Amino acid sequence: MYGFSQAFIYLPAQLILQHNISLKPFNTFGIDVKASEFVEINNLDELLVLCLNFNLTERNLLVLGGGSNLLLTKDFNGMVIKINLKGINTIKTEGNYVWVKAMAGEVWHDLVLHCIANNYGGLENLSLIPGCVGASPMQNIGAYGVEIKDVFEELEAIEIATGEKHVFNAEACKFGYRESVFKHQAKGKFIITAVTFKLTINNHKLNTSYGAIQEVLKNKQIVEPTIKDISNAVIAIRQSKLPNPKLLGNAGSFFKNPEIPLNQFNQLKETYPNLVGYSTGPNTIKVAAGWLIEQCGWKGKVVGNTGSHKDQALVLVNYGNATGEEIYMLAMAIQASVKQKFGITIHPEVNLI
Ligand SMILES: Cc1cc2nc3c(=O)[nH]c(=O)nc-3n(C[C@H](O)[C@H](O)[C@H](O)COP(=O)(O)OP(=O)(O)OC[C@H]3O[C@@H](n4cnc5c(N)ncnc54)[C@H](O)[C@@H]3O)c2cc1C
Repeated sequence: MYGFSQAFIYLPAQLILQHNISLKPFNTFGIDVKASEFVEINNLDELLVLCLNFNLTERNLLVLGGGSNLLLTKDFNGMVIKINLKGINTIKTEGNYVWVKAMAGEVWHDLVLHCIANNYGGLENLSLIPGCVGASPMQNIGAYGVEIKDVFEELEAIEIATGEKHVFNAEACKFGYRESVFKHQAKGKFIITAVTFKLTINNHKLNTSYGAIQEVLKNKQIVEPTIKDISNAVIAIRQSKLPNPKLLGNAGSFFKNPEIPLNQFNQLKETYPNLVGYSTGPNTIKVAAGWLIEQCGWKGKVVGNTGSHKDQALVLVNYGNATGEEIYMLAMAIQASVKQKFGITIHPEVNLI
């Protein structure tokens, strides 16, 4: 851990503090609420000026990447800090590994494509996840058998209260299933500025364990896939299954898959033989939240301006002019019915603001 000198406050910076800004273009649900203060951060100097001069610890803050994992339930009375820090650099290579550092404001999928173009392996299964690099460690993003913790080296973050730079390794991040220290002890205390990934140069460790990936590769008669083949397969699967937020507002999976005790799973199996789950430990099973929601009759159901998607029960959508409050009420109704039918509490994956 090391700090910047206070002299940084004299560096030139183009901070523009705007007032009463609509957040509609900044969240993939397309919710039209206003932020009382809004500032865009384009370089580290600006971020330091902001931390050292704006009494941030006394303000209500929302750090924003791509806005693809948020539900804005009301006007935001505080400062929204939109992170636009850019840059992707290869910082070292050693043996079969390369370390790639990406700034927080880089679009996640652009980083994935950059790595694939350079034949750096490890991120291909995470193709097409919306959002920015800075948010990726927040919830340890994952898809198709891979999570970023598998390729994570370290991240840099600025402590909001002091402007000091901190470096977190994987252990310090305390990664779990859609979890990290930044959702708990470190919540609201840091702005992530860069993330470094340790990727492979040759001998890539491909993960084709998901049936859907195997099926696409089989249909294309690809026997020895490259990382690009896997990325293309993941992109095709995602495009066929998930609603595009540009066309239909959503934030991906609204709820996390709940983990339940093995004995509860076995009891439920007697009543619901098709219950979908997989083992996460000797006595725990993770159950598919989408299946539970579908069994409660929500799949494809439209409620006012919102609803559960017709192909993906786990994805709640904005059909046009939904308010965040409406989507929140739907989510709570879904949560209550799953609890009533199965005795299982499902928790939102999306950050409720
Ligand atoms: C169609 C769709 C599909 C999706 N599929 C997946 C999937 O397969 N797997 C998966 O894991 N997720 C998925 N998501 C969720 C989402 O894409 C990820 O959570 C993504 O990492 C969010 O990035 P973002 O930049 O949009 O974060 P935002 O929504 O802007 O922010 C999310 C949280 O991170 C905080 N944050 C953002 N940037 C920073 C920063 N620099 N420093 C500190 N805090 C920060 C915010 O304050 C907020 O609490 C999907 C979303 C959509 C819309």
